[in-house]
Amino acid sequence: MQPDELRNIDNDHVWHPFTQMQGHRAENVPIIESGDGFFLIDTEGRSYLDGVSSLWCNVHGHRVPELDQAIRDQLDRIAHSTLLGLASVPSIELADELVKRTPADLTKVFYSDSGSTAVEIALKMAFQYHSQKTPVESQPRDLFACMQHAYHGDTIGSVSVGGISIFHQIFGKLLFESVQIPCPTTYHRPEGYTEESYLEFCFAELERLLAEHHQRLAAFVIEPLVQGAAGMLMHPPGYLKRVRELTSQYGIPLIADEVAVGLGRTGTMFACEQEGVTPDFLCLAKGITGGYLPLAVTMATEEIAAAFEGAHTDYNAFYHGHTYTGNSLACAAALATLKLFDENRTLDHIRETSEVLAKRLSELEDHPHVGEIRHKGLMVGIELVANRETRSAFPAEQRMGHQVTLAARKNGVIVRPLGDVMILMPAPGMPTELIEQLCDTVFAAIDEAIQMQVA
Ligand SMILES: *Cc1c(COP(=O)(O)O)cnc(C)c1O
Repeated sequence: MQPDELRNIDNDHVWHPFTQMQGHRAENVPIIESGDGFFLIDTEGRSYLDGVSSLWCNVHGHRVPELDQAIRDQLDRIAHSTLLGLASVPSIELADELVKRTPADLTKVFYSDSGSTAVEIALKMAFQYHSQKTPVESQPRDLFACMQHAYHGDTIGSVSVGGISIFHQIFGKLLFESVQIPCPTTYHRPEGYTEESYLEFCFAELERLLAEHHQRLAAFVIEPLVQGAAGMLMHPPGYLKRVRELTSQYGIPLIADEVAVGLGRTGTMFACEQEGVTPDFLCLAKGITGGYLPLAVTMATEEIAAAFEGAHTDYNAFYHGHTYTGNSLACAAALATLKLFDENRTLDHIRETSEVLAKRLSELEDHPHVGEIRHKGLMVGIELVANRETRSAFPAEQRMGHQVTLAARKNGVIVRPLGDVMILMPAPGMPTELIEQLCDTVFAAIDEAIQMQVA
């Protein structure tokens, strides 16, 4: 098909996610035809640096020979067979690798297809775990604790433990009950607090809310260290550890949603490692297949899984499963992705690129329209503001984050903002020269977009 024809069909028939379609049709977004390393190439032959890892999932680049070969080799055996009533070689080998690489107590691997389902499954497992463990006459554990501004995916269960207000408004009536824990991040703190006093308040509220609700809490779900979709909100050191201490004390299972932060993004393979925390559930998706194929895992401890043991007639199995659970091509891609982490020493490389990022970001420290720079590992949020002193936002109609995206795209870099927070999320394997190029282009695009709007 010719580019024009593809464009017309896209505009007429493809309903894009999280997209106001009227604006999309007017915008003529690039139609990607191929990839090459850390670049995307569109139908016009233009090449763009992939600055957000294809929405946070690409790890070692596009068309990586080792990954391509692993998938081809698997394709020569079989693309997919079911895990209902049968087992498969790649799903077994991947489970073995994951159990070896994650915190010691996590020994059970349940497969699904997206980050949303990985979290949904953890929530349902936690709920069923309690109902099978506790005597029927005791109070049901039907309440979930989650963080304010959290994002755990788009299925009804994962939205229920999310804190992005626009989704809550629209789907509010469909959602189940949750307790929202204040997010310990200080830039947008309420009036009357200093940074220190607000963090003290957050730690105190965490304790108070768990003390108040612990008897009803089925689980506590958290994005460890960095709340990505909220705009890269960073928790202070010690927070995750405190959450683990309190949840252990009250016997509340902890669900670590490492869908975004896992696979090296925060500088370690898993974010939980940085605080020496072992969760009861660990959710992975996005980068697990190197950004090649949809696959997710919900890992659980022996202790959780034990509540589902029994005879056939006990009817206490976990009642959940998807048709493509443990897909063989996706598992083969995941195995090859993990292997490349070792062969390419990707974690060492991330340490280096993270330092390059820190150095480059310091150039924006005194920028009159940069309110806050948030950075951990390879996750960066640059919050643009109309006024640095008052921390006031640009008017929503200006779509400043979007203007920066368009200016960057014109100069060959793809980024996607969260409101007016510019997100940089380079792939863990991206070489430092391309990190520099990403910074050069996005920093220039920030100035260009602001000059156009303010002028
Ligand atoms: C992206 C994301 C999800 C949802 O993953 P999908 O694969 O898009 O369903 C869940 N949790 C976090 C922290 C995420 O960043």
